[in-house]
Amino acid sequence: MSAPLRIGVSACLFHADRERPVFNGKPLYYLEQSMARFVGSQGALVYLIPGPGDAQGAESYAADLDGLVLAGGVDVSPGSYGETPIKPEWAGDAVRDAYELALTRAFLAADKPILGICRGHQLLNVALGGSLYQDILHQVEGALVHRDKDVYDKNAHTIVFQERTDWVGRLAPAGRAKVNSVHHQAIKGLGNGLVVDARCEEDGVIEAVTRPGAVFVRGVQWHPEFTDPTDQTYLDNGPLLAAFQASALARRSST
Ligand code: MN
Repeated sequence: MSAPLRIGVSACLFHADRERPVFNGKPLYYLEQSMARFVGSQGALVYLIPGPGDAQGAESYAADLDGLVLAGGVDVSPGSYGETPIKPEWAGDAVRDAYELALTRAFLAADKPILGICRGHQLLNVALGGSLYQDILHQVEGALVHRDKDVYDKNAHTIVFQERTDWVGRLAPAGRAKVNSVHHQAIKGLGNGLVVDARCEEDGVIEAVTRPGAVFVRGVQWHPEFTDPTDQTYLDNGPLLAAFQASALARRSST
């Protein structure tokens, strides 16, 4: 019986806020509850990786942990992929980008598995030299509404997997599935070494990417952690987490 896997999750950031009554003026690192529960749902231990300025560098966390989950949240800054914001409200969070780009590069260098979720899927793409649509509705003609603030994670659409690989057979045997959709950015230019796993059926927006290789490096545009595992109308995300963990376990056994 091996020790439980140790999975790091990148932190969401609340920057210092003088209006906030609790921890007034203090920067906060936080982890959303359903993310912690999802990542830990198959027996792994879940660790929040402290954000920018922590004493230990990204390489230390990559050496110590078995895998990285890049969490969802705020927009990626266009500056992180060489663009300027088309609108001020799409400026994103360059501070969080720098922290997560360092983490991603460290886990890639350490050859340890990475699962990117929503923003994390986009961040993984940017870390590998790719670019994003700053706003899908503004930049993709005929696009579906991929984020609706009123229904939030109840917004959903169908994705279609591009190839019938063994991986797709495990994840979505029918080759298509319903997923939630809580994003207004999406992958534009694909990062180096990534291939498209799945697209939105209605408008072709990229919804899942993979870096083929021995170690699990994948991004999904939907939120597995917001999906009710008992609702069989949605994609079952259990095999996604299981494959990530199997890769982490194999990587651990190889050292
Ligand atoms: Mn979507």
